[in-house]
Amino acid sequence: MNLQTATSANRVQPFDCRHFINGRYFASESGKTFDNMNPATKEVIGKVSEGGKKEIDLAVAAARRALNGRWKNMTGDDRIRIIRKIGDIILERKDELAKLETLDTGKPLSLSSTMDIPRAAFNFHFFADFMRGVGTEAYQTDDIAINYAIRRPVGVVGLINPWNLPLLLLTWKLAPCLAAGNTAVIKPAELTPLTATLLGEICQEAGLPDGVVNIVHGFGPESAGSALSEHPDVDAISFTGETTTGKIIMEAASKTLKKLSFELGGKNPNIIFADADIDEAVETTLKSSFVNQGEVCMCGSRIYVEREAYDEFLDAFISKTKELRVGDPFDPETNIGALISAEHTERVMNYITLAKKEGGDIVIGGGRPEGLESGCYLEPTIITGISRSSRVVKEEIFGPVVTVIPFDDEDEVIAQANDTHYGLSATVWTNDLRRAHRVAGQIEAGMVWVNTWFLRDLRTPFGGMKQSGLGREGGMHSFEFFSELSNICIKL
Ligand code: NAD
Repeated sequence: MNLQTATSANRVQPFDCRHFINGRYFASESGKTFDNMNPATKEVIGKVSEGGKKEIDLAVAAARRALNGRWKNMTGDDRIRIIRKIGDIILERKDELAKLETLDTGKPLSLSSTMDIPRAAFNFHFFADFMRGVGTEAYQTDDIAINYAIRRPVGVVGLINPWNLPLLLLTWKLAPCLAAGNTAVIKPAELTPLTATLLGEICQEAGLPDGVVNIVHGFGPESAGSALSEHPDVDAISFTGETTTGKIIMEAASKTLKKLSFELGGKNPNIIFADADIDEAVETTLKSSFVNQGEVCMCGSRIYVEREAYDEFLDAFISKTKELRVGDPFDPETNIGALISAEHTERVMNYITLAKKEGGDIVIGGGRPEGLESGCYLEPTIITGISRSSRVVKEEIFGPVVTVIPFDDEDEVIAQANDTHYGLSATVWTNDLRRAHRVAGQIEAGMVWVNTWFLRDLRTPFGGMKQSGLGREGGMHSFEFFSELSNICIKL
């Protein structure tokens, strides 16, 4: 393969990311490439083959052949063995993959090595185990008939991925897609091609037949992304990314009525009642605000604190934020690395400027950290005194920027939390059991955490309401998306 691997911590090496189609690495027929940048240094670290309709056509044809070939005829046990093995190899190559993920995204190595990569491996292990227990329904209609459903793969599935948790989110789709017997064409985010490229090699090493997993690099609009979403021989698309992109994909996919699963943007409320354990709320809020540079769809960027506890919370939150170290993602002491790109950093900075114009106070952060001008760094930023209707409170920023707003009663804060077209996740902090249930049940979000954040059991439904998503992933929900049921009715 053409991807050299990161063997030393942050040494820049020329990476050549090619498409992986039918078990082989290819450059684009056009010879077109684009640069891949390390956001921590803004240095070009390699070239990425720029795929388009041609490469998508090849990949879809390979996936279709594989669907009806060896993959289809394999026993469930054989499939389970291969899926588990992919997870095993990811763990064996954890250090290498974590370095690549950090080079590509700018996230701290401490995060990619403890969260992104182990979780990517676990996605395969989890779904390999889970598929053994997947059954279907059967109904007897008196003495007249018996009905039973059989489960079959959806077919060739397009998996379109974002840059914030590249391997974690890709494998969160790929593992159940394979477990349900489908074949896949993957379109990784153009900003983060490294770990996806290596995954091709890993799948092959695990014994996956050629063509079952295909990876095509490229951009979204008028490129590999759109070619995949409108391809007539693709049966389903599982997409994670921006809400606006989801709408475009939905339109493209409508021509052949593809099955769709969307995990989209969020602007999630973090509600802290005065009776909560404030120290614990502060510690967790630090993570739900700034982990992965705030580039996590479930970050709780709208913080609402009951007025009685507002000063206590804000003082502690500011003082803990001051302790966070922004810097070189390969330094083990770093808490916040670089944002994904210069363009995205500019976009987040514009929101900070807007917050000032909208009357907000930047109580900490608000700028680029001194001495780190050569990378895409931003200080963790807390904004107070901002109107509830300001764009900074309404729109997804996807960076280390949060607003803190006081509230006086439960109904008021529920209304504020729900005053958005997003509905991905929410966090509620309270020690009042009844209030916890009452409030959690009224927040319009696909996932509500009480006195915690980001605690995940992969069997549970994951996804967003309103314009934050379509469908649910996780456990049986992933299987429902990645398989088709046929009911067979036999007259007795
Ligand atoms: P994005 O929508 O810009 O891109 C995501 C992917 O879609 C990329 O691979 C891109 O090339 C592709 N794409 C873009 N335009 C396309 C088009 N017209 N047709 C087909 N494909 C196209 O999103 P992003 O900037 O990579 O990721 C950040 C967004 O993802 C945020 O909004 C974040 O909230 C969301 N996100 C959601 C979840 C979730 O689980 N709900 C998880 C992570 C990220």
